[in-house]
Amino acid sequence: MDETPKPKTNFIREIIDEHLRNGRFTKVHTRFPPEPNGYLHIGHAKSICLNFGLARDYHGLCNLRMDDTNPETEDMEYVNAIQDDIRWLGFDWEDRGFYASDYYEQLYRWAVELVKKGVAYVCDLSVEEVREYRGTVNKAGKDSPNRNRSVEENLDLFARMRAGEFPDGSKTLRAKIDMSHPNMLMRDPLMYRIRREHHYRTGDAWCIYPTYDWAHGQSDSIEGITHSICTLEFEVHRQLYDWYLDQLGVHHPQQIEFARLNLSHTVLSKRRLLELVETGLVSGWDDPRMPTISGFRRRGYTPESIRNFADIIGMAKDNSIVDMALLEMCVREYLNRIAPRVMAVLRPLKVVITNYPEGKVEEFDAVNNPEDPAAGSRKVPFAREIFVEREDFMEDPPPKFYRLAPGREVRLRYAYFIKCHDVVKDAAGNVVELRCTYDPATRGGDSPDGRKVKATLHWVSAAHAVDAEVRLYDTLFTVRDPSSVSEGEDWKTTLNPKSLEVLKAAKLEPGLKDATPESRWQFERLGYFSVDRRDSKPGSLVFNRTVTLRDEWARIVSAGRENK
Ligand code: ATP
Ligand code: MG
Repeated sequence: MDETPKPKTNFIREIIDEHLRNGRFTKVHTRFPPEPNGYLHIGHAKSICLNFGLARDYHGLCNLRMDDTNPETEDMEYVNAIQDDIRWLGFDWEDRGFYASDYYEQLYRWAVELVKKGVAYVCDLSVEEVREYRGTVNKAGKDSPNRNRSVEENLDLFARMRAGEFPDGSKTLRAKIDMSHPNMLMRDPLMYRIRREHHYRTGDAWCIYPTYDWAHGQSDSIEGITHSICTLEFEVHRQLYDWYLDQLGVHHPQQIEFARLNLSHTVLSKRRLLELVETGLVSGWDDPRMPTISGFRRRGYTPESIRNFADIIGMAKDNSIVDMALLEMCVREYLNRIAPRVMAVLRPLKVVITNYPEGKVEEFDAVNNPEDPAAGSRKVPFAREIFVEREDFMEDPPPKFYRLAPGREVRLRYAYFIKCHDVVKDAAGNVVELRCTYDPATRGGDSPDGRKVKATLHWVSAAHAVDAEVRLYDTLFTVRDPSSVSEGEDWKTTLNPKSLEVLKAAKLEPGLKDATPESRWQFERLGYFSVDRRDSKPGSLVFNRTVTLRDEWARIVSAGRENK
């Protein structure tokens, strides 16, 4: 990962540095704890880069832990996808792939310990009653009628909860803290619920499941985590995190919160992304319009670009929306360095060069990558019939349109000047073909008489062209912040109906015939494209537009809109 810039300091590093100085910890051990209830999105990528990046920079370790304590929604498919995505991003948890569900027995024993200590009890209130008894921010809660059960009775009831003697929802295990605590989460929080749900790993072994708060800190402790980094909404949970660990007197990691990433023109919530998948509004979790890691991968983004993006956005402590254009800039910047240039015509218009000999074929040298001389050059065939981009021709051009038009001369990249003489139309009046002449003296693209042209077009020889399907993408939502909808309004109303355009008849230069899945290319003048890893097959190629060439981010910066 040589392109990763030197770590910038941030408040998390400052906290860690202080811990290492004052001896609170002697090493750094982080973890990334996804819940396997969906695919990872770009927000998770930020967390992955942060946690694995800290471990790398401090010569420490980072674990991968499936935070799998909600049996209803979790699945092995998600575990596999999460692992693939993290590996693809370039990070390695080595032999430290863990599961919170592997700690169920230990968590149970610790819960028994708290019962014995008199700081946890079995409560018979229903979920609704628990809520009612909790009070409000301004009003103290009420003690549960079961709060003063004896330790013996609690031990007996808790064992029988586990044994399946009570119906779902009829009892809970709660920590005994303070029903008038100013932090509502400290008002006798739930530790266990009875739920007869099949778990994708533990099957039916358990009918009681630990809550997030009870499972998370203890899992961190079991793994010897030093810095448990999570997003800001867990700040209020920290007090409880600390309370459990203090009661148990076990290894006590430090929880640190940072701002979650929000990205413009999309949603970063697994629940919403799942809804898009389940309702068929996208083709799947890895639809190239999705803000998931697998979606970006399929779209043609590189791991380097995503890591660079994570680095640029930094570790702010306030929640803000990062513009999608910044991510695209990172992608463009990397692809500019590595992507070979080729010519491809997305919406072909046939051009017949009437004075070019029939059957003749010439080959022109084309530069593979002006950014990388070592990439060399290739031969591109030229013949009497070629395709140009339909939008590079206008029959009746406005003043600023400098490309092809009747009577107009333009340059064909690497080849010749051509001039348009006739426009052939079908019965409906659509332009179906152009008749042009070429000037043999302009071979290579310059005129010996110093004649200038204002446009250079890309083109593909008709007889040599390879057919392909090309998918063009736009943002998934039309508004910057799709999550801010008024009460009662459906967040999906701002989905972009034009987020996908499929072009079935693109023509590519012949060298692309064997382009391999996930290979990345710059189609000259059009953008960066990548071979779809799912749908592309030899003989029926499918390309995804990764990003256009236009630098939207530079425009945003120059207009002073970067923080708006
Ligand atoms: P979602 O809200 O999308 O369901 P989550 O927080 O429930 O996300 P987890 O699988 O629990 O998803 O997240 C794993 C880790 O990734 C957590 O440590 C979480 O804080 C972090 N994370 C999740 N979303 C973001 C985000 N948008 N930006 C940064 N980190 C995130
Ligand atoms: Mg979570």
